[in-house]
Amino acid sequence: MTPAQPKILLIYTGGTIGMIENPATHSLQPFDFTHLIDNVPKIRLLNYMIDNISFEPPIDSSDMSPAHWVEIARAITDNYDAYDGFVVLHGTDTMSYTASALSFMLENLRKPVIITGSQLPIGEVRTDGEENLITAVQIAAATDRHGAPMVQEVAILFENYLWRGNRSTKRSADNFNAFKSHNYPELAKIGLGINFHEEALLRQPYNGRQLHTHFSLDTNVMIIDLFPGIEESTLRHQLATPGIKGIVLKTYGAGNASTARWFTDAISETVKRGVIIFNVTQCVNGSVQKLYEAGHALAATGVVPGHDITAEAAITKMMFLFGAGISTEEISRRLSQPICGELTLPHSNKRPI
Ligand code: ASP
Repeated sequence: MTPAQPKILLIYTGGTIGMIENPATHSLQPFDFTHLIDNVPKIRLLNYMIDNISFEPPIDSSDMSPAHWVEIARAITDNYDAYDGFVVLHGTDTMSYTASALSFMLENLRKPVIITGSQLPIGEVRTDGEENLITAVQIAAATDRHGAPMVQEVAILFENYLWRGNRSTKRSADNFNAFKSHNYPELAKIGLGINFHEEALLRQPYNGRQLHTHFSLDTNVMIIDLFPGIEESTLRHQLATPGIKGIVLKTYGAGNASTARWFTDAISETVKRGVIIFNVTQCVNGSVQKLYEAGHALAATGVVPGHDITAEAAITKMMFLFGAGISTEEISRRLSQPICGELTLPHSNKRPI
């Protein structure tokens, strides 16, 4: 079911979907919205009311920053009541970070925010951009059997799948199915039709509250990726980064790290200084658990378990929580609890058979 004439707001930020080749360098560069939409004449067949807002100038998403997330969140917030759904056109490189950040910023979201882009520019004969754009607009207009928006969260539509935004990761630089959520099922499968998996869609308990957008993000956070052979001086240098408040520590397997004394000392001294360290696995699938001695040793230093959260969701969640002006204890508590479907808590701490 879709509303009589759905009203959709397209927010064009840039990315390959709207790029054209620079004749001098032969590299792709972002181009304006008129060029993009002129290449999708079929969109008019939908008979939707579609308006647009464009970044000036549109950007390659490698240049995306928290200030741009605020700009997107502002566009959605200011137009929230006037539209049934929102489609954000975005480069693929940092799409999962933007999707994660927006999911935390847009509290009480009850309308679809569908992010899409493409691997080939819209002007190319074999482009995936036309189909992605049209499907994203249809998903943004879809309603459930009660007439409520089918999708009430931030999601990424790419080729055959709709993924929860804060669960997604860019997994391919050239495959049309460029995204995947390794720890959470797809929200919809796109084939001949759009087959929504309603049991997977986010439905926050209705509390009568309006959209509440958080515009404050704190970027005094960083990611440290462990590797065998990391020097004590390197790690201590990173942990002592001036002004740092939160660190996503990417650990091995089920949240394991070296049991060497210098390592656990360096981590626990940092935690004692008041820096929050968030333990996120380097594996794309699975979660942080205290299965091994090496996991116990790290947990004993006071790091916060990230369960099955992605690094993209972890770093943006830290920016959001540090920006919220709450206590360090509250930040630690909220980091390891789901806010909007970004992580799953373990049902049991027994070792899976
Ligand atoms: N570099 C491009 C971007 O992220 C890649 C893409 O859109 O696929 O903007």
